[in-house]
Amino acid sequence: MEGFRSLPSVHRLADALDGRYRGLAVTAAREAVEAARERARRGEPVGDLEGDARRRLAAALGSGPVRALNATGVIVHTGLGRAPLAELAVEAAARAGRHYSNLELDLERGGRGSRQEHVEGLLLELTGAEAALAVNNNAAAVLLAATALAAGRQVVVSRGQLIEIGGSFRLPDVVAQSGAELVEVGTTNRTRLADYERALGPDTAAILRAHPSNFRVVGFTEDVPVEDLCRLGMPVIDDLGSGAIAEGLPELADEPAVPRSVRAGCAVVCFSGDKLLGGSQAGIMVGRAEVVDACRSHPLARAVRIDKLSLAALAATLCLYRDPELAKDEIPVLRMLSAPRAELEARAQLMRERVARAGGKAGVVEAAAKVGGGALPLLELSGPVCAVESGGDGVDELARRLRSGDPPVIGRVREGRLLLDPRTLTDEEARRAADAVVAAFR
Ligand SMILES: *Cc1c(COP(=O)(O)O)cnc(C)c1O
Repeated sequence: MEGFRSLPSVHRLADALDGRYRGLAVTAAREAVEAARERARRGEPVGDLEGDARRRLAAALGSGPVRALNATGVIVHTGLGRAPLAELAVEAAARAGRHYSNLELDLERGGRGSRQEHVEGLLLELTGAEAALAVNNNAAAVLLAATALAAGRQVVVSRGQLIEIGGSFRLPDVVAQSGAELVEVGTTNRTRLADYERALGPDTAAILRAHPSNFRVVGFTEDVPVEDLCRLGMPVIDDLGSGAIAEGLPELADEPAVPRSVRAGCAVVCFSGDKLLGGSQAGIMVGRAEVVDACRSHPLARAVRIDKLSLAALAATLCLYRDPELAKDEIPVLRMLSAPRAELEARAQLMRERVARAGGKAGVVEAAAKVGGGALPLLELSGPVCAVESGGDGVDELARRLRSGDPPVIGRVREGRLLLDPRTLTDEEARRAADAVVAAFR
């Protein structure tokens, strides 16, 4: 019964924890003392009581997503939160969250302003559009555009573009939800201008074009360039998915560029804020003034409004795009896309050496990663990665142990080895990932 007497009081233990969260600290301390008492009753060692209380408090305060190390090489990884933000964007979101701001206040007139003013000018400058609107995400942008333009009438879509994006975003369902009737034209692999022309009639309200973000049809294919579609004289809703606005990045050459669709005369162009743009979750709509205004004033716009943290981060990200070189250096997604081979090689070697020094078996091999997030499905970003031999318990067990670590490390398994891709890790993260591998071997 020695263990009982040496247990500290709940309040003394709580004093040793973070004083800002007193109530939760007392609860954590009480649970830790009770667990220790239970162990003492069974004649087991009481263990590190303060450490246990500290862990319980951290768990009580941290039930949101935990930080993870992305060693998959997939840059826009939906499971891991898509795009990490630029530092400027992180600071902007923290400021918007911590303090009051002029979110919807016109400081000059003292009257009510619009939250859209914080991004509108930037979006016009970067895309050449007449008007712009940011909403909650791109799925909401497409739904809003179809509803505002075509509810009760017809929307024409190519059969080659009746796509499903991850997370059950299916184009036919979105059109149905908007209250418009879907008119399919062409075939899976070929749709011509004449197919569209034949389908247009008095009930047609818009043509919807959707980027096949996460797949490609190859071989005997044909589709209609956006310029030709716009010449049909019908409003074109262009869902670009990722929507690239960065200039001079060869890796993005196959992504449809937002300015091109705007120049072609699309009624409204929709794209995500947190895919290849590298910003916060948002749906961005740019296009002709009367069309964007119709979207802005539709009742659904309020239901899909962008929140202030996302808006602040998006505005900061867009600011960086005003200088293409700055964007490439500061926006993590663009930096990872264009990371020089020498940098990747050095980081892969760093991981290999750290694992090898601790007695593990690892090498540096060439492997190809994907962009992810339903973008550029054919682009393989090949480069050096650290390949770890799994040892006796097998590679799936190694991957499981890494996933359950603190922080979790997510790699990819290939041919019985665990690959740690340096493209989606910083130097510091690569060190931690390698150390996690070493710990998992013990
Ligand atoms: C990703 C994507 C969407 C959905 O965008 P979210 O921002 O995830 O809502 C819609 N359309 C296309 C073509 C996409 O690639």
